Amino acid sequence: MCEACGNSNHKKHETLPRREFLKEGGASVLAAGAMMGTSAAAKAAPSEGKMVIGKEPFETRAYAAKSATSGFSPITITRRALRPDDVLLDILYVGICHSDIHAVHSDWSAAHYPIVPGHEIVGRILAVGSKVTKFKVGDIGGVGCMVDSCGTCENCLDDREQNCLNGTTFTYDSPDKISGGYTFGGYSDRMVVNERFVIHIPSQVHLAAYAPLLCAGVTTFSPMRHWKLQKDQKIAIVGLGGLGHMALKLAHSMRADVTVFTTTEGKIADAKRLGASAAFLWTDKKAFERLTNHFDLMISTVPVSYPMQPFMNMLKLDATLVNVGALGELTGGLSGMSNGFGRKSLAGSMIGGIAETQEVIDYCAARHIEADIELIKPDEIDRAYERVMSKDVRYRFVIDFASGKSA
Ligand code: NAP
Ligand code: ZN
Repeated sequence: MCEACGNSNHKKHETLPRREFLKEGGASVLAAGAMMGTSAAAKAAPSEGKMVIGKEPFETRAYAAKSATSGFSPITITRRALRPDDVLLDILYVGICHSDIHAVHSDWSAAHYPIVPGHEIVGRILAVGSKVTKFKVGDIGGVGCMVDSCGTCENCLDDREQNCLNGTTFTYDSPDKISGGYTFGGYSDRMVVNERFVIHIPSQVHLAAYAPLLCAGVTTFSPMRHWKLQKDQKIAIVGLGGLGHMALKLAHSMRADVTVFTTTEGKIADAKRLGASAAFLWTDKKAFERLTNHFDLMISTVPVSYPMQPFMNMLKLDATLVNVGALGELTGGLSGMSNGFGRKSLAGSMIGGIAETQEVIDYCAARHIEADIELIKPDEIDRAYERVMSKDVRYRFVIDFASGKSA
């Protein structure tokens, strides 16, 4: 029984050493005995060092919630053998998205425990399958919210894999069409992903601060592109958390005029520091009145349902409030008359496609935009969840899986 993680399949977790790469069968691969924990290697590789990683499924450390209330603890999970178009990612950093918390708590649907969340993943490519063309060993890759889609439906062909008509495979707790069971996400040491779903991350950027771009970044970038946010247009961001602060930075970089609505007094100054021309508390009824028919676009990142009509009232004629935050049932009432009179729309939006995710990374790299992060250790996830739920994150927790792995 492993003392560190309680798993009866192996004796002890080890900090995995830097290892040598081998070339075999046209694929860049890596010696398995060195890559896996000792017992995994021993089980899978009769003569350690000869076996090459990627040929067999392998075990890796992950942090899992075993129930909605268990908190996180280390477990050992199995990743699939590399297929010809797969890459093996040595995970360095993974962001904590509020969606991880919803999923662990079974807020949207019953989770399949143990659940390993994490869909803001940055890592180093350790091995590539024989048909991989996008990456080579040593490159930095990012994985966002998806790891597979059919690739042939009209939405996939239109670079909207998140809307795959045959069912997107999401990065965690999603039916795994390749290995069976449910996918395990990035709170883990290593993962295997089809290269189509891996994003190029420039190696010179602050890697930990780029992880949040893979979900929070693209989720807020995508509606700005779709609703064609223009320079000098007025945009409101509702909720200044992980998504909200990325929305603010991105809209400001597009030279839009940004206003933030927050429930947290202490974030008013932050909003202005990050580029907002104004920031108001939800309790500031005078501001709501003054800003009637004011905004060209609004993005709501609030994780719960709330009365949206007071915000809709601040939209101009024909403008749209894009709700990306509250994904359960929307309650709180909307006025058919007010929205009809102003021809106002309430819309939703779901992450972004792979091409758009690459676009937001390249966009941010060209403009030196990154997330504001607090780096934590894997054993601090429970505390981080509490702080996110109490709106006390400035502005994204990122779990450090890089420490202990040499560069
Ligand atoms: P977060 O970091 O917790 O930020 C949410 C912010 O909303 C909080 O910081 C807080 O900002 C405000 N807020 C929180 N609870 C509130 C409440 N009860 N009433 C009013 N305001 C509240 O969360 P996140 O990671 O940005 O994610 C936000 C939501 O987006 C989550 O529900 C997540 O599941 C969802 N999401 C959706 C997509 C998509 O594709 N559509 C992608 C990723 C995430 P203030 O302190 O400024 O009020
Ligand atoms: Zn997310």
